[in-house]
Amino acid sequence: MITLTGKKISEGIAIGRLAFYKRGKREIRRIYVEDAKKEILRFQKACEKASLELQELYETMSKEIGEANAAMFEMQQMVLEDSEFLNGVMRIIMEQKLNAEYAVKEATNRFIEKYAPRDASYVRGHEADVKDVAARILRILARIRKEKMLMDEPFIMAARDLYPSEAAQLEQSKVLGIVTMYGSINSHTATIARTKEIPSVIGIGEALKKQYEGKMVIVDGFEGKLYIEPDQTTLAKMQEKKRSALRKIETLERLKGKENVTQSGQKIDVCANIGTKEDIESVLRNDANGIGLFRSEFIYMESGLRFPTEEQQFQIYKLAAEAMGTKRVVIRTTDIGGDKSADCLEITGENNPAMGYRGIRVSLDKEEMFKVQLRAILRASAFGNFAIMFPMISSMEEVIAAKNVLAKVKQELRDEKILFDEAVPIGVMIETPAAVMISGELAREMDFLSIGTNDLTQFTLAMDRTNRRISGYYNPKHPALIKMIRIVANNVHLEGKRISICGDLAADLSMTEQFINMGIDELSVAPSQILPLRKHIRELK
Ligand code: PEP
Ligand code: MG
Repeated sequence: MITLTGKKISEGIAIGRLAFYKRGKREIRRIYVEDAKKEILRFQKACEKASLELQELYETMSKEIGEANAAMFEMQQMVLEDSEFLNGVMRIIMEQKLNAEYAVKEATNRFIEKYAPRDASYVRGHEADVKDVAARILRILARIRKEKMLMDEPFIMAARDLYPSEAAQLEQSKVLGIVTMYGSINSHTATIARTKEIPSVIGIGEALKKQYEGKMVIVDGFEGKLYIEPDQTTLAKMQEKKRSALRKIETLERLKGKENVTQSGQKIDVCANIGTKEDIESVLRNDANGIGLFRSEFIYMESGLRFPTEEQQFQIYKLAAEAMGTKRVVIRTTDIGGDKSADCLEITGENNPAMGYRGIRVSLDKEEMFKVQLRAILRASAFGNFAIMFPMISSMEEVIAAKNVLAKVKQELRDEKILFDEAVPIGVMIETPAAVMISGELAREMDFLSIGTNDLTQFTLAMDRTNRRISGYYNPKHPALIKMIRIVANNVHLEGKRISICGDLAADLSMTEQFINMGIDELSVAPSQILPLRKHIRELK
């Protein structure tokens, strides 16, 4: 057994085989084929093989992870039997005399675009599954079997480093744990791992060797340890630790439906931070008072080379609205930039991306893109209790400009007789020292403010949150930060508005009492942190 140590970023125990993440998609070339019939046969054979693989997977997975979780493989079978999909591929091969790989890629995109927006379609909300089926066919066509097959079963993912855009696309049912050689605990990759509740350890360094590929390992996200080929004693100990963590979760379950109230009667809302529609389920499971931060840029990061359309975004926001019912859902308009890169919006050549073209600056610069998003949010606001929040604010001018675009979009919707919530509250993130200093003016202008302690820490301390070399100095509890939070809370309350904290500091239990005493109205944390926070609040005097 080999024991490696790194930094813990997401709690939990994961046991499984290790598979190294292979960056870079296989390039799919557009090739002219002489014999289209032969190419169709090649495609049909690949489909047959894919179908057999899926059948096998369904059977083994139903035993291991239960029928409900294995149902995704059944759904994927449906795609393989869908005549629209199959004919779409064959038409491209036949009519354009193109290779099967290219036809699969093209037909998949068209299939998703055509069907995803329709309410009745089984494809809606399962775009990732359709892409998975296509990837399986492409792999079979490329005659790659062994090492990629590992990816079809739940596994523990090892990587040099992982971009947030890559982490955002990980499927919880497949990735049991994450271990990386590098990375920072304050990065968005860490945030995503926590939100997806995937036990993770980062920064193991070069000790995480390629030769461990395929080996049985255990990730201990509580201690920041990785055990390679664990011995029987360690395995038994870790299995017990896993069971005990589950028992703890069961105890926390009893807090569902209870108030976040201290013993002396002080109340505070505890909401959830999410990034994708898949996270909504854990918001409900953990009984959040609402969604305090929907990091909508993750939708863009998952969207590939094309911007997510108004319809695609609308469906996701509507899902959140309907799932949460009367509970508030705060959609933060996209904060692409910094460490959150999206293929659909290439930002290059910046010396300081975190302080560069990002957040509201991008939205105001790309008004069309901004309007598409605001239309989608406003349309979805008719189905629930929505609020809109602008990120990375540093001046009143930005706020006024953003509100002007919002007013234009509202007018367009009125003209088109499309329903939306006319009174949708508007707020801003306090993530820059400038925003702290003008928090009084901002509070006058907006309905609520939310403090993003992650960015506020990096800009106040002048410390890049993704730079692992200085992570030892990065202190979100620096007295300067605490003073800033107090100043903002006072300014907001003077205007009679609401103040929340949605950065990682919100989940720090050593701060809860102070936050409650400052009168913070809401803490918004990763879904898995809701019940532990509730427990702590209820124990406070
Ligand atoms: C923050 O900066 O604290 C915040 C919540 O936003 P993000 O972590 O997405 O930058
Ligand atoms: Mg931020």
